[in-house]
Order: sequence, then structure tokens, then C-alpha cells
Amino acid sequence: MIKLTNITKSFGRHQVLKGIDLTVQKGEVVVILGPSGSGKTTLLRCVNYLEKPNDGDILIGDYSLNCKHAGKKDIIRLRQKSAMVFQQYNLFKHKTALENVMEGLVVVKRLPKEEAKTRSIAMLEKVGLGGKLDAYPSQLSGGQQQRVGIARALALEPEVILFDEPTSALDPELVGEVLAVIRKIAKEGITMIVVTHEMGFAKDVANHVVFMDGGVVVEEGTPSELFNHPREERTKQFLKRIT
Ligand code: ADP
Repeated sequence: MIKLTNITKSFGRHQVLKGIDLTVQKGEVVVILGPSGSGKTTLLRCVNYLEKPNDGDILIGDYSLNCKHAGKKDIIRLRQKSAMVFQQYNLFKHKTALENVMEGLVVVKRLPKEEAKTRSIAMLEKVGLGGKLDAYPSQLSGGQQQRVGIARALALEPEVILFDEPTSALDPELVGEVLAVIRKIAKEGITMIVVTHEMGFAKDVANHVVFMDGGVVVEEGTPSELFNHPREERTKQFLKRIT
């Protein structure tokens, strides 16, 4: 289980997260929706400590951390509990698909090379890229690059995968293949928090949907509750604009 309690984050005088509480059960897919600038990406980055929250508590699995008092070692431990899939893939350009997936296993997890390689190949096969192990990012389509990003996250066997608008940089014809891979791994029971504007995906795949605006959670519920019976005016307005 993942539990975020009162997460706050400011950039200078701009408070971007104003005390976020969020609970994700093991195996659940939680989709976060909200207008641009509402703090969705910042929240994901706080969970992975790519941004340091100003305050709040983060519990992932059996590990919990208070953001005010966390030391370096606490942060390193917390980071290993989650893996991020980025909007812009963030692959190493001078490394092959296989090397990109292996990197975290060898450098961070300190797995022996052969074991890292076997696991990485299995993950690339899972995302349909078993034939592209030696391809460099420049030789892959955006959809394929993002699938390498997903294989890299999966290989780390994190407690949760954080997807930050994983299809927003893709040409429309490539969105489907990436969503299909995310759907497939969701079915395997991997816990996920997904920031996306893909409403069809949210409706089909999410167990729980969270609507954020202005750095707060405005409303949350099942996809049916949120999409068919939104309670809050801000949610209604947002859904009207994007559907
Ligand atoms: P969303 O993902 O919902 O579009 P973000 O989390 O990206 O929202 O951004 C929320 C707000 O925080 C925006 O106003 C953005 O400009 C600001 N912000 C995000 N990252 C930084 C940063 N590193 N420095 C300063 N402001 C930032």
C-alpha cells in the first residue's frame, strides 16, 4: 500500500502542492487528472523524491518517511520503492535498449551483469521489443522508446510505477501501442499511479480516479463516480472541457 499524507511543496513563494492525501492499495491503478499546472507532475516527482517535498509523510509498502526529517539514506531507500516513466522517455541516447534497461539494475540494484541482462531481456520481450535489444533510441519510434522506458521501470521491480503523462509526447498513431502495454502490466497486478489526459484509458483501466486542481485533491472516486456523477463544480467543468 502507498499512503501520502499532507504532502506540501513550494517553488519559491508559489505553493504548488497544498497538503495532498492519497492512498493507493496494492495492485491498484490510480489515475490522476487535472488541468495543466495543477501539480500532478510535481506530486509524482515528490513520491520518487525527484523533488523534495517541504512537508508530509510518504509510506510505500513497509517503508515510511517523514519529509521534514528524512536524511540521505532514508531518501535513497524510498527512491528504490518506486520507478518513474517520464513524458520524454529519458533514455540514455548512447546506450542500446538493452543497456538502458540494464543500467539501473547494475548501478543501483548492484545485480550481477548476467542476471541483469536476463531480466532486462525478459522485460523488453514483455513490452514487445524482444527484437530491438541492440537498437539505440534514435533508431526507435517514440512509442518504442517509451516501451523501453516502461521495461526499465518494470525491471526494477518497484512497489509502484509512476507514469507521468506517458503518451503525451507521442504522435497520435503511437499512443495505442503504449497504452496497450500499460494495460497489460496493469492486469498483472502492478501498482500504478498514472497522470494522463487519456480519458478512455482512465475509464477502462483505473480502479480509482483523482481530480486535482490548484494543488489540492478536489474529488476522487471510482471511474464511474468521477466521470458519470462528479460532485464538484470544478470537476464538472474540467470534464466538460476535455470530453
Ligand atoms: P501539472 O503536472 O498538473 O501540469 P506541474 O506539477 O507540472 O503541474 O506544475 C505545477 C506548478 O508548479 C506550475 O505552475 C509549474 O510552473 C510549477 N513548477 C513545476 N516545477 C517547477 C520548478 N522546478 N520550478 C518552479 N516552478 C515549478
